[in-house]
Amino acid sequence: MKVFIARPMTPAVEARARAEFDVEFRPETAPMSEEEMINALNTFDIVVPTLGDQFSADIFAQVPDPRCKLLANFGVGYNHIDVSAAQAAGIAVTNTPGAVTDATADIAMALLLSTARRAGEGERLVRAGAWEGWHPTQMLGHHVTGKRVGIVGMGRIGQAIARRCHYGFSMQVAYQSRSAKDLDFAAEFIPDLSALAASVDFLVLAVPGGAETRHLINAQVLEAMNPNALLVNIARGEVVDEAALIAALQAGQIAGAGLDVYEFEPKVPQALIDMDNVTMFPHLGTATEEVRTDMGNMALDNVAAFVTGRALPNPV
Ligand code: NAP
Repeated sequence: MKVFIARPMTPAVEARARAEFDVEFRPETAPMSEEEMINALNTFDIVVPTLGDQFSADIFAQVPDPRCKLLANFGVGYNHIDVSAAQAAGIAVTNTPGAVTDATADIAMALLLSTARRAGEGERLVRAGAWEGWHPTQMLGHHVTGKRVGIVGMGRIGQAIARRCHYGFSMQVAYQSRSAKDLDFAAEFIPDLSALAASVDFLVLAVPGGAETRHLINAQVLEAMNPNALLVNIARGEVVDEAALIAALQAGQIAGAGLDVYEFEPKVPQALIDMDNVTMFPHLGTATEEVRTDMGNMALDNVAAFVTGRALPNPV
């Protein structure tokens, strides 16, 4: 079977893929074009796509009899693939859950701490040679330990963030999810999102992207937040109405935001760049060599299962 891998991978993943499969790597790091996606569906038995490769219903409609029978997505989030349209075309979809959990939770904490303690702004000050020295009221930020955090989406990553907040920072944890969770630490389930937003110092987003969660964080939720509260988004950019977020930040309705993802990434609005109380990372959630290798191996485990006719380990 012919396998197409849509991005360069870590050396370990590339070596395994070349040893085990008849594989072609796409050398570009940018998302696939429509033409490339159509060509891949027609030419390969298995495609390993990733974030940014927009396998929409329209793409599947243009390939009536695809050679491809598996999209083994590299990443846990698969909102860039229209899964129902893929399945209707006879193509299974898998993802890489679990491999990404701790690394992404770490990045959520990095954003929370950086934004609360003005780390980015402070770093820029030092680099600019503009630091005039310590004094008792210099660059006062928001205290983190013991504060109240609200997690939106208490899944694998949401729970890993909650654990870090509870055990590492003695924070009170509250959360919203589709269902209440049985957890081994204290966490209050607040099913109403605006009520959760109104009750916390930090609101952290960890839901999947897609139509169901698009603009879950809208003007109404932002308005419910405390003016001293911070928003952290490691989920997907589209979960937040970015224009409403900019308006809320500019009006002082919330005190700041820590963002790993953007509604139209890699485009980042100038209005966000202009605000010192916004910390911005370039989608770093899973960006470590070990994690990207684990993700690649998980995607290849799904490829291997498919090639040998075994049940897919991570179907979505
Ligand atoms: P997961 O285990 O499936 O958890 C997702 C959670 O979101 C579940 O608790 C689910 O609730 C909840 N949820 C789903 N739809 C919801 C809705 N409409 N309203 C409220 N809650 C909803 O997934 P995960 O592994 O934690 O990953 C979560 C997401 O993080 C991924 O899908 C991906 O988009 C994103 N991510 C980002 C990065 C990054 O680099 N920044 C890295 C990895 C992942 P129930 O459990 O009640 O059903």
